[in-house]
Amino acid sequence: MSPRVDPVLDAALDRDECFIGQIAIRRRPAGFILTHRAEEPSSALQEFHSADDARELARFNDSGKYRPLKTAPNLRHGWLLKLPDIEAIRRALDYFYPGRLAVLLRWKRKELRITPMRQTLERQSGMYRIAAKISDEQLQTVVANLCRSDGGCLRTILWKRDAAGGQASRHLPSQKYDPAVDQTGASAQFIPLLCQEACNLLVNECRKAVRPTSAG
Ligand code: SF4
Repeated sequence: MSPRVDPVLDAALDRDECFIGQIAIRRRPAGFILTHRAEEPSSALQEFHSADDARELARFNDSGKYRPLKTAPNLRHGWLLKLPDIEAIRRALDYFYPGRLAVLLRWKRKELRITPMRQTLERQSGMYRIAAKISDEQLQTVVANLCRSDGGCLRTILWKRDAAGGQASRHLPSQKYDPAVDQTGASAQFIPLLCQEACNLLVNECRKAVRPTSAG
């Protein structure tokens, strides 16, 4: 059974405004308003009224391109989502940032399983099995390129490179590993987006990094 996530939102929304990734959540007398955090609520924004609308809002960037990584900092602009209560926000955020509230709650309760990168690579099969052959040096470069907060991904990395506790990438700033730091660079009331395990996109980048040197 998935854990209740309301405790996370209850705590974060005790102020009039809070942020999660690129989303601003503002409390209003009749409920809540969500927008891209770079935009203030205004009549110039296209209005939506259902948590389910978040599914489409999260799908494409400003150029209409599909967003395979929902925590990439390329959320589209120009929308305003009016929601009645915290339960509706919870549902909307699960479209914008799938699974992140549940992961955060487990982390706060010290129940979150965090998987070292090497372990994730070792369990790959088929065409991805080769990714485990990546060198430590290559791996740190690939992680820095894909996971960096400025243009890559807004999650905070919790996992280590290997079971010995090696840092995911020495090319990333220490803030990238600190859940107390807002990865957008703003200092505000925010909910961190945590990364407890390397994602499929990162595994695929490792595979691509290995393939040229392992041919034959
Ligand atoms: S591994 Fe985690 S931090 Fe890196 S791109 Fe994937 S989800 Fe983002």
